[in-house]
Order: sequence, then C-alpha cells, then structure tokens
Amino acid sequence: MSELSKCFYRVTAGRSCRDLCHPEYATCWQSFVGITKTLLPGSYKLYLTLLVIPPLVKGGGYTAEYWFNHILAYASISFKTYIQAISGLTLQCLLYKLFGRLHYYCLMGVPGLVSAALVPKLPHVHLRLQGITYFNMMLEVMIKKSKLRCLQLLRQSKLWATVCFMLFSAKIMDVLRAKTVNQFWIMYPATAPEDGKPTPAPCLHEASCQAYVLDGVWKYALVGFTIEAARAFVSKASLIYGEPARFARELRQAIGPALPLFLAAYVGSFRSISCWLAHSTGRERPGHAWLAGLLSGAAYLLYPKYQIFTLGFTKFLEMSWEHHLNTVAVRPRWMELLQRLPVLRLVHMCSIGYMYHALVFHSHLSPPFNSKCVNYCSDFRVERIKRRLVSWMLEHSWSAC
Ligand SMILES: [Zn+2]
Ligand SMILES: [Zn+2]
Repeated sequence: MSELSKCFYRVTAGRSCRDLCHPEYATCWQSFVGITKTLLPGSYKLYLTLLVIPPLVKGGGYTAEYWFNHILAYASISFKTYIQAISGLTLQCLLYKLFGRLHYYCLMGVPGLVSAALVPKLPHVHLRLQGITYFNMMLEVMIKKSKLRCLQLLRQSKLWATVCFMLFSAKIMDVLRAKTVNQFWIMYPATAPEDGKPTPAPCLHEASCQAYVLDGVWKYALVGFTIEAARAFVSKASLIYGEPARFARELRQAIGPALPLFLAAYVGSFRSISCWLAHSTGRERPGHAWLAGLLSGAAYLLYPKYQIFTLGFTKFLEMSWEHHLNTVAVRPRWMELLQRLPVLRLVHMCSIGYMYHALVFHSHLSPPFNSKCVNYCSDFRVERIKRRLVSWMLEHSWSAC
C-alpha cells in the first residue's frame, strides 16, 4: 500500500474529486447535500460503546440527572463528529477546486486536520478522549512505520516493550503516590487520608491487606470482563435479530480473558507488593509505589497490546510534565509559554489529520479502530476512495511507478 504514495500523482493525473471521491454524484454540491442527508446515523453508531460502557462500569449513582447528562453528552459528541465528517469530506472537493488537481496531502491529511479545527467546541473531557485516542493511534503507526533501530526492537520484542511499560508504570504510580498530579490511570495507590485519620499501620489502606488485594483483583477482573462483553455485544448486536444462534456463538468467542487477566494481575500485584514492602520495612514509604509500579508493570506480558503500551507512554509523558510543573521551584519562561499553548487542541488536530492520511496511504499500519471510526462516519466513502486508488494503481504497470 505504501506504493500508493510513490505513484499517487501518476495514477491521479487528469482525474477529478468526482472521479475519486464521489462518482455517484455529478457535482460537488450534490455530494455535499447527499452526505449531509446520510451520515448522521453512522456517528451515533460509532459512539454506542461510549453510551453503553461507562454506566456499566460506574457501579452506582444512577440518578435521573446522571442519565440525562450522559445521554446528552452522547448525542452531542455524535452530532459534532457528524459535522466534522461532513466538513472533512467537503474539504476534499474544495481543496481539489483550489489546486485544480488531487494532492497527496490534501486528500485526507489536510481535510482531517482542518475539519478537527472546525468542529464545534468539544467539552474538555471529549476533546481529551478524542485527542488522546488519536494521539495513541498515531504513536502506534509511527512505531510500526519507524526505521529507527530502537523502535524496531520495541516492535519485535515483547520483553523490551514490557520493560518500557514497567518504567512508565513506575513513574506514574510514583507521582500519583506523591499526589503532585491528578489524572486518570488504570489504578491508584493508597494515600494517607487528608483528614489525618489514623490508618492501620504499616499500610495506608483501610481494611486488612488480604481484603485490600482481593478486592482489587475481583473488581478489576470484573471491569475487564464488562468492557470485553460490552465491546463484543456492540460489535455483534446486528446479528441478534437475523441469526441469534450465531450471535451467541460469536459473542462467546469475542470475549477474551486477556484484558480481565491483565487488569487483575496489574492491580493485584501492585497491591500485594506495596503491602509486602510496607510490612517488611515497618511502614509505607514514598519509594514503595515506584518499586511496586515497576514490578507490577510486568503484567503487560499478559496483554501486550499497542493500545495499552501507547496509553502508558502518553500518561507517562503527561504526568511527568504535570509533576514537573507542580514541583519546579521557578518555572522558566519556555515552560510558561508552552503551558499557554492549546496543546491538547493542537494534538487533537494533528493526530486526526495524520490518522486520516495513514488510513488511505499506510492502511496496513493503521489500527482497525481508525478505519472503523472513519468508515462509520463517512458511510464507507473513504474505504471506496482507497479501493479506487488501489485499482487505478493496478491499472498502471508497477514498473512505471
Ligand atoms: Zn467534488
Ligand atoms: Zn496492606
């Protein structure tokens, strides 16, 4: 597929945006009206997991207000993604008109970046969700694509990837224990209560060590199982009516044990190592969270996925930065300037542009979730664009490219 980048201009010479993007519509305006009428359900379908999973793992507090806000947030992000999809696809035509020819970067990359900039303001939590998801997918493609020796090693060796994840985990648990950052991570270390209430020495958690460890293992295994089940249910739901027997079989096959196992092992080992360290040294000390975080990071071997690795790396960067900001005695000027930049928004725009480009021109490296997002929201138009490009390329002799 990367051959596409080499012969893009040769195979698209003399072709218009209509030939490549919307042969079913005679004009760009008709294409715009057509997508405006048809793309809305796809966006709502894409965010179904966001509608289903959070209430399932929340475990309580289901007030009418919670449901109202939750459903409203789902409707809002879906609608804004629909606007983004329309603007991205329409920009392909506008950029073609502007340059008078199809351009390699203006086919997917630039429209993706600009449409992300044009999308109505997302609430911070949704901007983070989209921005971090796309940034993590971008890292995944970059790691897969890189010719750097160290990244090639990381790609091929589970052991090296695990060592890196252990180091991310150590730093993350260390700064969470120090309470210098306040961010989401898979789990949190026990910290001393704010109100100075006594805790059963030598550990900081309440209840017995055994109950503390078992509670973590059980709850996180359940969360992992719930996420797997909900994800499998949403992806197979279309089979319920037509083929219920096949639905049950495929649902069972789609729920894997690896994620629940990883979560339970990660949390269980962190808690038991922390307790053991506290008991063997007489009391809990700040460095213990670092060491327990490092060792429990080995659980990555049970679920060595790019999503977990890139999540760990991104959180490591974010938390290290926030920790440094909050603990440095005097912030230098460059740090003040960097802090004022809308970094999250820029990351959101650039990574969406990069992933849209990667979907067509490096599709073998693009994670399946990326094509799912784009194809749901574009009603498979982008998939058809990709196929058209490939078929044009095949029409040319390979040597000519
Ligand atoms: Zn057009
Ligand atoms: Zn304990």
